[in-house]
Amino acid sequence: MYDAIVIGAGPAGAACAISLGKEGKKVLLIEKHLLPRYKACGGGLSQKSYSILKENLNIKLEQVLENGIDEVDFIYKYKNNVHLAFDYITIKMCMRQKLDYLLVQEAQKYGIHLKTAEKVVDLDQDKGHIIVKTDKSQYNGKYLVGADGAHSIVASKFFNINKKRAMAVEGEINITPDLKVDKNRMELHYGIIPHGYGWIFPKEKVLSIGIGSFSPSLKGLNKYYYKFKKEIGLGGHQELILKAHPIPLIKEKNPVLHTGHVLLTGDAAGLVDPLCGEGIYYALQTGIWAANAIINNNLQEYSAMIQKRILPELRQADILARLIYNALPVINRLVNSDPLIAENLLAVVYGKGTYKDLFRYLINKYSIFRQALS
Ligand SMILES: Cc1cc2nc3c(=O)[nH]c(=O)nc-3n(C[C@H](O)[C@H](O)[C@H](O)COP(=O)(O)OP(=O)(O)OC[C@H]3O[C@@H](n4cnc5c(N)ncnc54)[C@H](O)[C@@H]3O)c2cc1C
Repeated sequence: MYDAIVIGAGPAGAACAISLGKEGKKVLLIEKHLLPRYKACGGGLSQKSYSILKENLNIKLEQVLENGIDEVDFIYKYKNNVHLAFDYITIKMCMRQKLDYLLVQEAQKYGIHLKTAEKVVDLDQDKGHIIVKTDKSQYNGKYLVGADGAHSIVASKFFNINKKRAMAVEGEINITPDLKVDKNRMELHYGIIPHGYGWIFPKEKVLSIGIGSFSPSLKGLNKYYYKFKKEIGLGGHQELILKAHPIPLIKEKNPVLHTGHVLLTGDAAGLVDPLCGEGIYYALQTGIWAANAIINNNLQEYSAMIQKRILPELRQADILARLIYNALPVINRLVNSDPLIAENLLAVVYGKGTYKDLFRYLINKYSIFRQALS
């Protein structure tokens, strides 16, 4: 019998496994893919994520960190450009297959058991423990952690959480000599897809190009992606890989993300920022909190922490997202005359400020935000 079975070896599952392993718990981590595996993701690490990885998990990130971003272009409809230069690194770049694999290897140092290329196909409960059935075997655990991402089997088996399913698509292209790439500068493109944005994140060897929409009803995401790629002059560059992936967004105000023996973390719980799509931080943080709740034998503290420390910010982000994406031409004019808006937004992502601070700034200064909220 395992103390805990963790399903999914993304940031949430690995952070949870490391934290449990450090406390000497007998842990099984199950991943359906062989590792390292590709995950469609921009690989943008905020300072919040970086701090957790360095300070809470003691990960030696140097081997997986690529370039740091200190210049950001906010571009509206391919022409209107607000350029920001920072005296600090706002976002650090990584390739997810490398980061996630490093975290799993760290967990293995603490003696956790790892099963890869093994898919969880069913779950059951019996006399206070959990039965995990995979396509190869069956395991028993006192606790179960659902870190199995957007298509979570744990969420569908044990929880009934209302989530919105947004979508994003990500392509990686080689940085060939003909491409003039500033590796310290990323581009964020607005007004090119309803309720969303496109991005160009430079890595050491590739450009990660993506586009996403927070509107679940939007169809034909690939069409928007190819148009975006063409407009930014990269139409002739073939992708090394191109993948679409859902962005799950929790819709409930005070969801309970635990049962008697089960906890739901990261994307499986829909804990993603609905304005910018950041999810790695929430995955890492909830993975660690889930481990702490198991160690303290107090699962209630887990949902309470999320309700107190994460959901109020995600709610603010959701209100802002609806205001911003519904009024992009106006917001574009405001950002042009007051680049501090964009700067404050990046400060929130970095972790220097909160959405509440950004909201306060906008409401105090601009009637459009006051009117929208009244
Ligand atoms: C295109 C795109 C770009 C993004 N860019 C960024 C970004 O730049 N920065 C950022 O912070 N966030 C970004 N995100 C969000 C971020 O990728 C996710 O929020 C994050 O990966 C969530 O981590 P997780 O551990 O919860 O889930 P995942 O990383 O999805 O990991 C879940 C794991 O569970 C495994 N699994 C699933 N089902 C089973 C099963 N039945 N049995 C066994 N294993 C299973 C999967 O194979 C997977 O490895 C982006 C998302 C998308 C779609």
